[in-house]
Amino acid sequence: MELKDSVQFIKGVGGKRAELFKKLGIVTVRDLLFFFPRTYEDWSKICTIADAAIGDFCCIRAIADRKPIEQRIRKGLTIYKTNATDGTGILKITIFNSKFTAQKIEEGKEYLFFGRISGSLWQKEMNTPSVEKSERNDRIRPIYRQTESLSSKIIEKAVANAIDSCIDIIPESLPQYIMDKYYLCSIRDAIKNIHFPIDSDYASLARRRLIFEELLTLSLGLRLMGSVKRKKASLSVVNDCSDSFVKSLPFTLTASQSDAIKTISEDMSESIPMNRLLQGDVGSGKTVVAAAAVYNAVKNGFQAVFMAPTEILATQHYNTLCKMFENHGITPELLTGSTKLSDKRRIISQLANGETGVVVGTHAVLSDNVTFNNLGLVITDEQHRFGVEQRAVLGKKGNNPHVLVMSATPIPRTLALMIYGDLDISVLKELPKGRKPVQTFFVTSNKRERALNFVKQHLDKGLQGYVVCPLVEDGELDLISAESYAETLKSGVFKDYSVGLLHGKMNSRDKDRVMQDFYSGKLQLLVSTTVIEVGVDVPNAVIMVIENAERFGLSQLHQLRGRIGRGTEESTCILISDASNPEARQRLNTMVKTTDGFKIADEDLRMRGPGDFFGTKQHGLPDLQIANMLTDSHLLSEAASAAQEILSNDPSLSDDIHKGLRRNVIRLFSGITGGTMN
Ligand code: ADP
Ligand code: MG
Repeated sequence: MELKDSVQFIKGVGGKRAELFKKLGIVTVRDLLFFFPRTYEDWSKICTIADAAIGDFCCIRAIADRKPIEQRIRKGLTIYKTNATDGTGILKITIFNSKFTAQKIEEGKEYLFFGRISGSLWQKEMNTPSVEKSERNDRIRPIYRQTESLSSKIIEKAVANAIDSCIDIIPESLPQYIMDKYYLCSIRDAIKNIHFPIDSDYASLARRRLIFEELLTLSLGLRLMGSVKRKKASLSVVNDCSDSFVKSLPFTLTASQSDAIKTISEDMSESIPMNRLLQGDVGSGKTVVAAAAVYNAVKNGFQAVFMAPTEILATQHYNTLCKMFENHGITPELLTGSTKLSDKRRIISQLANGETGVVVGTHAVLSDNVTFNNLGLVITDEQHRFGVEQRAVLGKKGNNPHVLVMSATPIPRTLALMIYGDLDISVLKELPKGRKPVQTFFVTSNKRERALNFVKQHLDKGLQGYVVCPLVEDGELDLISAESYAETLKSGVFKDYSVGLLHGKMNSRDKDRVMQDFYSGKLQLLVSTTVIEVGVDVPNAVIMVIENAERFGLSQLHQLRGRIGRGTEESTCILISDASNPEARQRLNTMVKTTDGFKIADEDLRMRGPGDFFGTKQHGLPDLQIANMLTDSHLLSEAASAAQEILSNDPSLSDDIHKGLRRNVIRLFSGITGGTMN
């Protein structure tokens, strides 16, 4: 058998299943071997019910009290309930929609139950556990991304068979000198241990090798493609006019704002286009820095585009710019999906003939019929929501315009360099004077009522607030879903208040309407998922309650919290969580202790929080199988220096020992470049 053979020839797969595997992107034997587990279940450590910590994944050996009782909740949702005991306590078991699992369980028999512990210290629960007969041998089990008709177990068997028959034909792609220098295990050991680790140390060694290889490939590819070729800029600021703009502002700039404005003016007076990332924590005042750059561009006779990821944000920036430019003879235009057709026509023609100096907008600005007379500056806010391709489109509309990217995400420098190429970074280190840091508390759910009453007191004073719930995953009925929670609040505690709901599944028009109602004060309380994370400024919103706070990454909590504390009132953030594991509690306590976004991001990285707000897809970079660019940033810098070392000896990867690396690069980038690498 060869690695490029169809997966159907693996024992236990066959033609029919091969079709199902295809849905997971697995076509060849190689694809299967490189389809890594999403996570593991450690069935090797049995925990007693008494010792099982709430929030943790545990394996419990216990006797079922009875056959699970079936309950039809509604159409499409049937649950099965039973209790299990192990002499130290009783565990309530609930199985959602899986008759198959439920039927396995018989009264009086002993089983292994694996799942997340929920409930309370008095009544621990486990929802939708994996269930095995208790005599099954205990080991670390791989869990794969599954589809409806292809379970993790079937995949596991196929992988085991593939390893049996093919492990010895997997070629080593890394040169020996790199493996020696960076302490990497062989590819064959890595494949064996990523799927079936003997213990967690073996799993980490395998991960290290595979992540390193992937990041090395990414790094080599980006370097080989010469991702950045800077050409001459179209705009060169002759007169730095920012002073007159700054003087007109109603506040004094912070020192970092002044520095950033000065540096940007200098960048824009060069003949090479600026490519700068403006990083600053939420509320640090990035917009005014961007406005100064726009001002300079327009006063020097060039056009500027200011892009935001959502309509509401675009509208907000538009209003801000209108106000700031009021007495300077600059009239911004707003172009979004819901701009009236007649206005759209007028704006498009005025952009084409150069009458309009600055346009603020969403991706509508990227549409084909928008052209510019002399575009000189492109600004994008909350950049990580835009893809590389979109940036390329904007680049083409001007003649190498200057580019300023704003982000509140503290991206590690190595990562930023990789994503944005050869770029400079300005950081807004301090918040404007007079800001009161948000007071943060961490409480358990039995204080929920008090927390909500506290919210009420604020609403009664004419202030506004948020309640944030995490996304609900399938079968997790114990978690509060935003939708049902909003209903509960509306008809209960907050029945005399106006409550709005905002979640990711709503279409953008509805979302914008709700945001607008909240912005205008029509809604007093907004119940929401994390969609409010991205920057709308409602200074009157001063209180936020975050449910199941342990579910969020720290950086994400920080972004969320950034929605309040924007006015002159004292603001409060209440994190509700019943997580009992010490690590989760420590993470939440970090939020209580500090409001410094960079410290929080560091802590997040250190503790490998789950928050993946930084998916790679959005960057237009190739999909990574196993590496996470944010949490694996330490390996990223090692891989980047290895790439540099390799290419300095062999700039086109043509040596025989680099054959494998070359193959890797072509494979990883084939999807996005159409094979332009030579
Ligand atoms: P962010 O960096 O999160 O985008 P904004 O640019 O929205 O922050 O600024 C937040 C608020 O702070 C705005 O209302 C803005 O007018 C105000 N602001 C910005 N700079 C200063 C400053 N130097 N002094 C006082 N207020 C400021
Ligand atoms: Mg902002």
